[in-house]
Amino acid sequence: MHELTIASHILELAEAEARKAGCRTITGIELEIGKLAGVEHEALHFGFTAVCRDSLAEKASLNIITTPATAKCSGCGVTFPVQSYFDPCPKCASSLNTIIQGEELRLVTVNAE
Ligand SMILES: [Zn+2]
Repeated sequence: MHELTIASHILELAEAEARKAGCRTITGIELEIGKLAGVEHEALHFGFTAVCRDSLAEKASLNIITTPATAKCSGCGVTFPVQSYFDPCPKCASSLNTIIQGEELRLVTVNAE
C-alpha cells in the first residue's frame, strides 16, 4: 500500500504545519502530484480518509492537482512534454531522455483554523 504510506506522510506534514500555526483543525489540504509520480489518486483519497481518522485533519478535504511531466533529450538537449517515460524526443526521436519534471509530490497548501 504505497498510497497509504504517502497519505500518512502528508498527514504528518500537514499536522506539523497546523500546530506551528496554533491551529486545531485542518480544513483542507492541497497537493501537487506529478503525472509520472505513479500515485493512484483514488487510492490516495481512500488512504487519506483512513489515516485522518481521529487526527486534526479528520474533516479535511483533499485536493490533488496533477502537474505535467517534462523530459530533456540526452541527444539534442531539447525539453518537451511527455505522457510517459518512453516518449521519444520530438526533434531527434531519441528515447534517451531525462525526466526533469513530473515525478514530484508536493504539499502546496494546508488550510487550518
Ligand atoms: Zn532529441
